[in-house]
Amino acid sequence: MSDDRRVVVIGSGPAGAMAAYELVRKGIPVTMLEAGEDIQHGALVRMAGRNLYRRVPAMTKASGFVVTGDPETNLEYNYALGGLSNQWTGAVPRFCPEDFTAGERVHEKYRWPVSYSDLAPFYEVAERMMEVTADPSDVPNLPAGHCDYQLQVPDDWRSVRQAALKRGQGFTTMPLADGPPFLFLRRGTSFNSYSKVLARLSGEPAFKLITRAHALRLEWDGQKKKAVAAIYCDRQTNEHNRVSASAFVVACGPLNSPKLLFNSTCSDHPNGMGNSAGLLGRYLHDHPREWWPVDVDTPLTSLSPPAYLTRLPHASSDPLLASSWTLGAFGTVGKIKSRFGQKTTYFGVQVFGTMVPEEKHYVSPAKNHKDEFGFAALEIKISFDQNVLDNMVRAREHLMQLIKDAGYNGTIREIVHTLVPGTAKHYGGAARMHASPRFGVTDGFNRLHEIPNVLVVDASSFTTGAEKNPTLTVMALAARSADRLARDLRAS
Ligand SMILES: Cc1cc2nc3c(=O)[nH]c(=O)nc-3n(C[C@H](O)[C@H](O)[C@H](O)COP(=O)(O)OP(=O)(O)OC[C@H]3O[C@@H](n4cnc5c(N)ncnc54)[C@H](O)[C@@H]3O)c2cc1C
Repeated sequence: MSDDRRVVVIGSGPAGAMAAYELVRKGIPVTMLEAGEDIQHGALVRMAGRNLYRRVPAMTKASGFVVTGDPETNLEYNYALGGLSNQWTGAVPRFCPEDFTAGERVHEKYRWPVSYSDLAPFYEVAERMMEVTADPSDVPNLPAGHCDYQLQVPDDWRSVRQAALKRGQGFTTMPLADGPPFLFLRRGTSFNSYSKVLARLSGEPAFKLITRAHALRLEWDGQKKKAVAAIYCDRQTNEHNRVSASAFVVACGPLNSPKLLFNSTCSDHPNGMGNSAGLLGRYLHDHPREWWPVDVDTPLTSLSPPAYLTRLPHASSDPLLASSWTLGAFGTVGKIKSRFGQKTTYFGVQVFGTMVPEEKHYVSPAKNHKDEFGFAALEIKISFDQNVLDNMVRAREHLMQLIKDAGYNGTIREIVHTLVPGTAKHYGGAARMHASPRFGVTDGFNRLHEIPNVLVVDASSFTTGAEKNPTLTVMALAARSADRLARDLRAS
């Protein structure tokens, strides 16, 4: 196997792991650089399809960032093998076809350069790795994916499902990467991108994993007009090392990926790679998130795994300002009740809203602050405007009315306010994809428009932030762009 085709993948979270796996599977040698060292320990006890006990490792407060938007902006991060899949919940809804196109009603810059049908085969590649539990039927605004374990919402929730359908919404099992029904693990999540994806590559001569390797910047060759190497700090020795390759897949997560590109300055790219148009870092977005317990007057079967109420139809609502609702059992007792089909009069609701991505929300190199390596720290400027907060209030009212129309009187007990950026851990958009370099840093295969041998495959490439959890779409995009890269490298 020719080493001339070697690709460096930076980051071992779900995005980087998926890209590396696809590349190696297609005959391309990969060196992965990962800033962290070990997979983090935790605990998971899963019985009869319910996660009865889960302890996830703590995240660390990120350093090297300067907040200039909402002062409460949350920036926890995780330098570890597997990235945030050490902590995540595993909700993996697919985007629906309109999620990629509907933003065009607002402006052409909100149209993705990739369609649902482009992505569908790669959604399946990712789902097959994740051992998903889901309802295998399509519902409005949520296409069904591949699932290893099937589960329907209990029958007595029928009237809620019907009230949802009347509004053009689906009410179904939340697809979850929960794995087999019985598990006792020394980690906090069933799907971790190291143990479920990268571990399959161990022993493969084409795959080399370098941990404690914090990538600092990419190196540009002005004659070849392409990126030729990644420079990283070996955290054990503090030495700076260089690894050359034919292409670079950046998968450091939605804030650290743009930072690596900002760090990668040279005389041809004085403002960082992919930033000639000044777009890098712009259009940062996130999911406002809140949750609340609801009491109902008539008992309903406890929901574990949780149920998912999909967004209102694109055609009859704002295409870019939407909400989704996850309804679930309360605590271990609620989960045990669900195992035996027992009923309850209270459940928990988590809402994700959206925001319209705008240039005014951004990450960029901070003027007067340095990170631990002497590069400019990352300034992050994001806040939720009034229309975003109003949308969350409407989401509460909407669910309560829907429940009423289904024949139940519901009351919200208290709202757990977490409406500050970063609590969802769903940042995206800072190296957005678009068919045109006027509106995007990356093209439809996640390649920098101006440096096609550098790809950005995490949620920083999202053109818009649909109300759905992002990771499955991140993995599908990563698999698709790696598939294309492998074909191009084999043909070269
Ligand atoms: C509590 C919690 C619950 C969540 N629940 C869900 C959910 O239910 N569904 C969902 O879709 N999403 C969920 N998420 C979000 C999900 O975890 C992320 O979307 C996902 O992990 C992103 O994958 P990634 O590979 O892009 O980034 P990450 O997982 O952040 O991985 C990035 C990797 O890059 C490494 N890295 C960073 N910088 C460098 C560098 N300079 N050099 C080398 N390596 C570097 C990091 O160490 C890390 O391993 C949740 C997150 C949290 C914290």
